[in-house]
This record gives sequence, structure tokens and C-alpha cells, in this order.
Amino acid sequence: MNFHIITLFPESFSSYLSESILKRAIKDKKITVNFYNPREFVIQPKNRPQTYSERRVDDKPYGGGPGMVIEALPVIKAIEKAKGKKRKVKIVYFSPSGKQFDTEYAKVATKNCSDIILVCGRYEGIDARVKKVFKVEEVSVGPFVLTGGELPAMLVIDCMARQVEGVLGDFASREEARASSPDVYTRPETIVYKKKKYSVPPVLLSGDHKKIDEWRNQMRNKS
Ligand code: SAM
Repeated sequence: MNFHIITLFPESFSSYLSESILKRAIKDKKITVNFYNPREFVIQPKNRPQTYSERRVDDKPYGGGPGMVIEALPVIKAIEKAKGKKRKVKIVYFSPSGKQFDTEYAKVATKNCSDIILVCGRYEGIDARVKKVFKVEEVSVGPFVLTGGELPAMLVIDCMARQVEGVLGDFASREEARASSPDVYTRPETIVYKKKKYSVPPVLLSGDHKKIDEWRNQMRNKS
């Protein structure tokens, strides 16, 4: 699975991608994560380096109002570069008012395409003409508004990566593919905190896997 991220802030991904399961997935080439910064697609002045303001990709919104809008053309060019000649590529355009992202979306997208382009907005969002040039799916990661699409992109990468065989140590360990509970326990069997004892539910010590699965399903349905 190849992720292509269109972002003004590629550095913001590095700490999360360089730890734990995603770090290993990248090292083992189960996933790749590639970045395309719209700033790189602003037309270069000849014979001299660009100044910061020449690399700006945001401007005031037509019609007035607060904040800045990311210009269409640098984003279009970044998407074009990410898309290249790939055929089975999905373009996700993050928006708080898009279709709700969930595990099912991640499963289907991982099955159906080898490349996914994640377009991260910032400020007031991206000039809507990008959506006229490319066929995009507008996706929200939840009923709240964030300052940018980078956290949504990280969330999508994380959730989709675990649908790629070989990313989790045991593919069957995906929660949605087995009996699972939001409550999990490990050693010791009893802990004492402020003189009070807290013990593991006895069913988990019973060795009866049918009963354990039933308990886990009950716990999941309760939550
Ligand atoms: N006025 C814009 C709007 O309502 O779409 C606000 C844009 S928001 C402050 C800036 C960017 O953050 C969006 O373009 C989008 O990429 C991202 N974003 C914010 N909240 C999000 C959410 N819940 N799901 C997905 N993307 C989100």
C-alpha cells in the first residue's frame, strides 16, 4: 500500500511514522509514505532562489471572511505528481463535512487500491476548484474541526496499514476479526492501590476459551 500525502507540513508526520508498528511496516516495505508539498509546485523565478513570500500558497478568500485559503494550482500540480500514471488510485480530500472514515472504509480502500492520495487542507481549506479537476472522495475523521488534515492523514495511514497483511505481527489479531473487548488485563492477577485490591475478572483465568470469547463479546456490546 502506497500513501501519497499532499501537505504543507510534511515534517509533522515524522515522529509518528518513526515509531513502533508503522516504523516496522515502512522498513519491511509493507507500506510506503511519500510527501508532496504544494510549496514545491509554485513556479520558480529564473536565476535566483525563491523568497518566502514567493513560495506562499495561501491567499485571502474571495467574497471576504476570515482566514486564508490554499491556492488550487500548487495543490493540483502536487496531486498530478503523486498520481503519475497510476490507475488504481483513490484521492481522499479531507474535510470536516465529508463522509465519515471508519474501519470498513479502510478495509475496502486497502483491498481496492494500491495507491491512495491524501490531501491535507489547512487554514480555511483548499480552493474548491481542486475538486473539479480531480475525482475526489471527501472524508471526515469525526464530528469536530481540526486545524489541518495532517492528523486525519496519520489516522487514515494507521488504520489502513493494519489492514495490510504482514503489518500486524498476526493478521488475525485485528480486533474486528475476532472476539475482542475494550477492557484488557495483564499480570499481575491482583494489584493494590491505596490499600484497595483490583483483580482480573475470573473468567479470563478460567482457560475456557468459549466463555472468554462470550465475555469479550458481551463487554464489546456493552461499550
Ligand atoms: N472552513 C473549513 C471547512 O469547514 O471545511 C475549515 C477547514 S479546517 C479548519 C482545515 C482543514 O483541516 C480542512 O481543509 C481539512 O483538511 C482538515 N480537517 C479539519 N477537521 C477535519 C475533520 N474532522 N476531518 C477531516 N479533515 C479535517
